[in-house]
Amino acid sequence: MKMKAAVVTAASDGNVEIVERDIRPIQSGEALVEVEYCGVCHTDLHVAAGDYGKKPGRVLGHEGIGIVKEVAPDVKNLKPGDRVSIAWLFASCGSCEYCVSGRETFCRSVLNAGYTADGGMATHCIVDADYAVKVPDGLDPAQASSITCAGVTTYKAIKVSGVRPGQWIAIYGAGGLGNLAVQYAKKVFGAHVVAVDINDDKLALAKEVGADFTVNPLKEDAAKAIQEKTGGAHAAVVTAVSRAAFNSAVDCLRACGRLVAVGLPPEMMDLSIPRLVLDGIEVVGSLVGTREDLVEAFQFGAEGLVVPKVQLRKLDEANAIFQEMRDGKIQGRMVIDMKACGCGHAH
Ligand code: NAD
Ligand code: ZN
Ligand code: ZN
Repeated sequence: MKMKAAVVTAASDGNVEIVERDIRPIQSGEALVEVEYCGVCHTDLHVAAGDYGKKPGRVLGHEGIGIVKEVAPDVKNLKPGDRVSIAWLFASCGSCEYCVSGRETFCRSVLNAGYTADGGMATHCIVDADYAVKVPDGLDPAQASSITCAGVTTYKAIKVSGVRPGQWIAIYGAGGLGNLAVQYAKKVFGAHVVAVDINDDKLALAKEVGADFTVNPLKEDAAKAIQEKTGGAHAAVVTAVSRAAFNSAVDCLRACGRLVAVGLPPEMMDLSIPRLVLDGIEVVGSLVGTREDLVEAFQFGAEGLVVPKVQLRKLDEANAIFQEMRDGKIQGRMVIDMKACGCGHAH
């Protein structure tokens, strides 16, 4: 059997090529998933561009949702017909200090879909069954794809921020991740939210989904505006792919505020040591979420508290989507509809 997939080009130049590949037989612990939808995350663009090392030939995609077609005889948790996720956390060792203490995304021998393992931007994907999280009934599968990375990542980052109901959180970057960050912060955590982005259309959408106010740093000093309006944010989650945003986020916090770093620009941020020490600022990284975080993040989607804004596209449009992402033109998430893969076969 053959599959169609978006793979990183030999040059790892920020583009993909659509190829046809054989689907190998599944092995112990694995399941074959027929992919329905796969969202395009900015991380896919980083991987395609070789920002963290070249990955020629890798099948991208870690916002995959699909239907289980076949499971290995030893797989107990899944059966054909189940709808499951293909997330960045593709597999981990299951026994190290990180895996056994609720920090499995930091396992030192982790495998990541679309980076160190072939991912979900394909008509089919072979997964480690233990890491495929079931999608709850009542959650639209195209919307579930967005929660598989953008949703769970921001849900977890807000948890890590420690923000409490009624406190202020600043969300830097109101793109694919940021739009969901605003929704989780407002609707699930009960926080007051300020959204910061350099594109006014993204700020308008952030406002629509719950931001109390918005700031465009191209028009005013974001940190200053936030300090003036809130007395300083209690927390900031930075999803923007820009060091300027990280630097501004440090400055928007009140004393003892916490910055949660989520965006991955391959750059350094400035951190004033006196600001860190004298104001008790905390800076911490947050990496996607555990399987349990994803169960929780999905459930809030199924309950309608969080509604990902998605637009369906074709697999052949992957490079066009990347260009729109570079240009900052995407509202919410572009999601590849694998049934519209254009190959002429019925999947
Ligand atoms: P995106 O392109 O959809 O959104 C990024 C947003 O940042 C855009 O709206 C853009 O206008 C905005 N932006 C750019 N410069 C800015 C600035 N100076 N100030 C404020 N906003 C600015 O990307 P995405 O899919 O939301 O991903 C965002 C980042 O998060 C990427 O680097 C991605 O690799 C990373 N990511 C991290 C994790 C994690 O687990 N930590 C998970 C998924 C994605
Ligand atoms: Zn992602
Ligand atoms: Zn481990």
